[in-house]
Amino acid sequence: MTEKIKCLIIGSGAAGYTAAIYAARADLHPIVYQGLQPGGQLTTTTDVENFPGYPNGVDGTQMMEDLKKQALRFDTIIKNGNIVDIDVTTSPFKVKTDDNTTLLAESIIIATGATARYLGLPSEDKFKGYGVSACATCDGFFYKGKTVAVVGGGDSAVEEATYLAKICPKVYLIHRRDELRASKAMQKRAFNTKNLEIVWDSIPIEIVGKEAEFNKEVTGVIIENVKTKTQKTLDISGFFVAIGHTPNTDFLKGKIDLDESGYIITKPDSTATNVKGIFAAGDVQDKVFRQAVTAAGTGCMAALESEKFLAEK
Ligand code: NAP
Repeated sequence: MTEKIKCLIIGSGAAGYTAAIYAARADLHPIVYQGLQPGGQLTTTTDVENFPGYPNGVDGTQMMEDLKKQALRFDTIIKNGNIVDIDVTTSPFKVKTDDNTTLLAESIIIATGATARYLGLPSEDKFKGYGVSACATCDGFFYKGKTVAVVGGGDSAVEEATYLAKICPKVYLIHRRDELRASKAMQKRAFNTKNLEIVWDSIPIEIVGKEAEFNKEVTGVIIENVKTKTQKTLDISGFFVAIGHTPNTDFLKGKIDLDESGYIITKPDSTATNVKGIFAAGDVQDKVFRQAVTAAGTGCMAALESEKFLAEK
């Protein structure tokens, strides 16, 4: 089956849904492919306090439900599934989904976001899903009443650590330097959280635990002080990784210009990629701001640019 689409939107985070709202209101009849994480990264966060229009803050999942409803109100079609390939040499573009459907798209907005990074330790891999997680708001509940650790020093790490501190008696925040990268407001939040201990200048060396035939559990993390080279074990039940993200652009390699970190390169003051008719919005093209509101802003830009492109075609 081959569908013809005026505006195909790949990804359903703040960028994708905002693009859909604008494209639908411009009668482009957009189709959104939700991707592997419907609702995007905000569905893994709790309180969003800095998105304009919510004076009391909003739950991230709730906010994405609201954006989805708003997109549906203007006749957006939302589909489950993932895009695995784009032929950028054809017009319309030939696009393959993970269930082997071929779509024909006259314009495309890529809003596939970014994915959490891990440290790359073999022990981290071994205990993934059994005490090791990259999302405290998704998995923190399982460690209620237990001691946990978060690694990282950015806003995500502090956000996860302070979230966990509400349900865990003790939280270690392990950071490789002697100052946090997180914003001043977030730092203040960390310093004011009594049961949150920041372990400075330290990196995790190994996650340790117990392994039974059908189960595994984390019991500790061995950390090394990068200055003194001394090692010690922190007794913990949960280990949360919050060290940044990688853009979801694997399927675009060799097709669309990406920078050295894999982010899509867009033209200045524009969401246009090097391929005419293909636009990029949100975290997949933004390694500087990475905020929900900036993602929404570029989603809007991409829809307007797609509309202009189709009108001129
Ligand atoms: P980030 O700002 O890139 O911070 C990543 C942190 O992980 C840094 O502290 C970094 O250490 C550390 N790190 C990286 N690789 C590591 C490794 N291999 N081993 C140990 N530590 C490692 O990422 P983020 O915290 O995910 O934030 C991304 C963006 O989203 C930022 O712009 C942030 O402001 C935004 N954000 C905002 C909010 C909010 O406003 N509520 C919440 C979350 C995120 P170094 O500092 O030494 O480089």
